[in-house]
Amino acid sequence: MTARDWFTKAQNENFAIGAFNVDNLDIMRAICEAGRKMKSPVIVEFSAGEVGYFGLDNIKDLIENAREEFGIPILLNLDHSKKVEDCLAAIAVGFDDVHFDGSELSFGENVANAKKVVITAHANGVLVEGEMDKLPGSSEVHSEELDFELIKKSYTDPARAAEFVGATGVDIFAACFGNVHGTFPNQPDLDMGLVSKIREALPNTFLSMHGGSGIPAVQVREAIAAGKIVKVNVNTEIRAEYRDALDEGLSENPGERVSYKLASDITGAVAAVVEGKIEVFGSAGKA
Ligand SMILES: [Zn+2]
Repeated sequence: MTARDWFTKAQNENFAIGAFNVDNLDIMRAICEAGRKMKSPVIVEFSAGEVGYFGLDNIKDLIENAREEFGIPILLNLDHSKKVEDCLAAIAVGFDDVHFDGSELSFGENVANAKKVVITAHANGVLVEGEMDKLPGSSEVHSEELDFELIKKSYTDPARAAEFVGATGVDIFAACFGNVHGTFPNQPDLDMGLVSKIREALPNTFLSMHGGSGIPAVQVREAIAAGKIVKVNVNTEIRAEYRDALDEGLSENPGERVSYKLASDITGAVAAVVEGKIEVFGSAGKA
């Protein structure tokens, strides 16, 4: 099944597929182990920084090997790419979808660049995710409070979203309706009315929800149902769990010099977080 087949199935069967950022090999294993245990498809995704760390050719081999080893559908996504050429490079090595993030550009420039990515992607059977409204925050555990009025300014305007999708031909639209990157002491509520309106305005487009960390499970489930969201991005909670488990492993084994001997506990801890997300997204048992 292709990425399009999987997203169509998710839309029809009211579940979302988790898109989990891969920071390192332990996290990669954790995502795959969780997917296998839960019999769930997973999306592994790499940001520009993560691509820089691994290298595209290594990522390609890593995914091929993992598909064979774990026997579950593993989709490969380029996360928040701000450069057209980086999207084209990912398409060339066989990514399943690429997220061109032109949200910092003017509407016109964003459309022009997204279109370039779409042409090459579609010629290669690859899906493109577009983003128009800059999602607030960054993938960290924030200690400062969020300004809710500022967040509302990032909300997607459904009519403008329809214009963007019509002009670019992107397959997936990153919707903003109260979701933010990272976790905050005062997490905003998702606007279910707005995500329903975005859904209605984009009848032939898949919707994604970034910032899947820190949102209460009940709201995530409601948003998946109201917006027929098929992809939920999760980064911060994975990174936070990894760091906590690493700290614990180091303090409990002060004399250990072989880092891979700490890996299985860390992988287990991160896998538990991923399993929890798979449960909430409703993708367990779908693989
Ligand atoms: Zn994101």
